[in-house]
Amino acid sequence: MTSVCGEIRLQGVPISSGIAIGVIQVFHHNEEWIVPEYEILEEHIELEIGRYKLALSKSQQNLVELKDLFQEEGGSEGATIIEAQIQMLNDPLLTIEIEEKIRASRRNAESVFKTFISDYIRFFDDESDPEIHQRLLDVKDVAARLLKHLYPEWTQHDEKSLMQSIVCSYELIPSHTAEATLGEVQAFITEIGGGTSHAALIAKSKAIPYVSNIKIDVLKESGGSMVIVDGNYGSVIINPSKATISMYQTKQRGQSVRFDVMKEDESEVRTLDGTVIDVQANVQDLTDLDLLKRAKIKKIGLVRTEFLFMRKELENVGENEQYQLYKKFLQLSGNMQVVFRLFDIGSDKKMVSGVHQEPNPALGERSIRFLLKHRKFFSTQIRAILKASAFGNLHIMLPLVTDMNELMEAKTYILEEHSKLIREGFDLPERLSIGCMVEVPAFVIMCDELIKETDFLSIGTNDLVQYTLAVDRSNPLTSNRYGEAHPSILRMIEQVVKIGKKAKVPVSICGEIASNSDYTKKLLDLGVRALSCSPRYIPAIKRAIRSIDLQN
Ligand code: PEP
Ligand code: MG
Repeated sequence: MTSVCGEIRLQGVPISSGIAIGVIQVFHHNEEWIVPEYEILEEHIELEIGRYKLALSKSQQNLVELKDLFQEEGGSEGATIIEAQIQMLNDPLLTIEIEEKIRASRRNAESVFKTFISDYIRFFDDESDPEIHQRLLDVKDVAARLLKHLYPEWTQHDEKSLMQSIVCSYELIPSHTAEATLGEVQAFITEIGGGTSHAALIAKSKAIPYVSNIKIDVLKESGGSMVIVDGNYGSVIINPSKATISMYQTKQRGQSVRFDVMKEDESEVRTLDGTVIDVQANVQDLTDLDLLKRAKIKKIGLVRTEFLFMRKELENVGENEQYQLYKKFLQLSGNMQVVFRLFDIGSDKKMVSGVHQEPNPALGERSIRFLLKHRKFFSTQIRAILKASAFGNLHIMLPLVTDMNELMEAKTYILEEHSKLIREGFDLPERLSIGCMVEVPAFVIMCDELIKETDFLSIGTNDLVQYTLAVDRSNPLTSNRYGEAHPSILRMIEQVVKIGKKAKVPVSICGEIASNSDYTKKLLDLGVRALSCSPRYIPAIKRAIRSIDLQN
């Protein structure tokens, strides 16, 4: 913590970019569900069950509306998370089992439900496992919604006041972010929560600035009410001076992101001196596609395919289920080019149970290493993708390639599966386009060799920074060392772009740096001509490009 002329500056972890200036509202997370508990008469049991069913259907209705809102706004991650909550409400544990418990215990619905959920949470809670913890946050979220319908007197907080300020809380649950609208909630500050938490994904998709790893007690004790939240750098400034406010207001104006601007945009993006820049999109959900078509985006530079199945155990997702989804994706994307990145699982994305018990998972069996070792997953996915390739303009991208052996092993396997499918009678495109993510320094160093075997490259700076600077990308304690524009990273980008140009192999950037307009000029100066960005940030990136003169 530093103090400058009455200002208190706190350094946290940037989770969702953007700047907010406003009044802080500390939200006290009330974990306790206080509900009436009483016996019911035999003849009232069906009535009680009816009351419970009504609360279930109202909760479902709320969530469907929330999901529709997300889809309209183009927040695909949010829609996926809310869909999972809708599914929870259909779980027989919450339908049949609660009904039976009401019948058997002859107690009121809210007390039966509360006891059931509290036992469930107590039984499963494991703070040391972030995935289980996240899932239980979803369960608590759904439970709180349902309880509010059963017993409207119980409420966790004053939602009205929460909605017009910078919301500060120990931890966020998904529905707080889901129900927040930019312009009402100006920003989030929390003490715990990483960049891949559901709440974080939703905040990002709504472009609400979010900083975590800030001690809430320090905020409370500071006595300040006015704060600046800088989601780009993870700083929070309490009691900012007039000069600081005015400096941040200027930054804020330059960054204001309005998603609907995308509808009006022309497809071609040129700098002031007429250089054409290829602006592509990173997409993880079908719901973004319509919006991108309206925005005349011609290429989806990164589909994180593992995100399409985020809420599932991957071993249960078969070839046909994958094929149907990839096919639909390609059909909906019309004539856009689509780059499907093969499953990037492992490390912080533990989507397969029973594996990944590694001491150092970020350096372990993740991404292409995992697929090469566990061929069942590789074969299922690649067969599904290849079969779907007949329905669109598809490119295949390999994640986390480190050396030539790995690249050749993966390519050979894909080509063998391709030939096998043709022999099985599938009508597939003859030639495949196979590219690599550039995420490991070893790839950059050997790029002039590796490029001979690739059709395109995409620089994944999120991991490249992690592996170059030896900084865990999801560890809040080292976040101040995670410099996405570190000179070493910029040099690497320049080097890869140069090699790509010489070899006439297209190179783009799909890491988060591409979505940060603070660095657009720098990247273009280094020779970058293709940026694949999160849809939310495309208008800001296009605006930045159109204001750049590469001659100066
Ligand atoms: C990256 O590493 O920059 C990237 C785009 O991949 P992910 O963020 O999914 O690891
Ligand atoms: Mg990566």
